[in-house]
Amino acid sequence: MKRRILLIEDNENNRYLVTFLLEQHGYEVVHAPDGPQGLHLANQARPDLILLDIQLPGMDGYAVVRALKSDPATRSIPVVAVTSYAMCGDRERTIAAGCCGYIEKPIDPDTFVPAVERLLPESGGKDVP
Ligand code: MN
Repeated sequence: MKRRILLIEDNENNRYLVTFLLEQHGYEVVHAPDGPQGLHLANQARPDLILLDIQLPGMDGYAVVRALKSDPATRSIPVVAVTSYAMCGDRERTIAAGCCGYIEKPIDPDTFVPAVERLLPESGGKDVP
């Protein structure tokens, strides 16, 4: 069964690139352009991993990951921040908010999928029913 990844990203070019790279490697990708739609999809699609842009219109990525981690239905899904914020302390801030990892933009097509795979749980046996 294909592993499913939810991408929450407002930039269309990044959505296209990430979707292309992951589908090329056999993943199923679902995406949302903002936080509220991302939270809804996380509940509906039950992805194996969530890739989360931090700089989103309205509800930012920090608020999105906090909401994911406070909902028992989505708490156990690993969330990886994908962000161009390069300032010192942002990595710590995303981890403190509940992310399990951090991938920097701009997305490098040669290293992006391996970076995602390092953060993707091995088994399909999720805690979530
Ligand atoms: Mn953005």
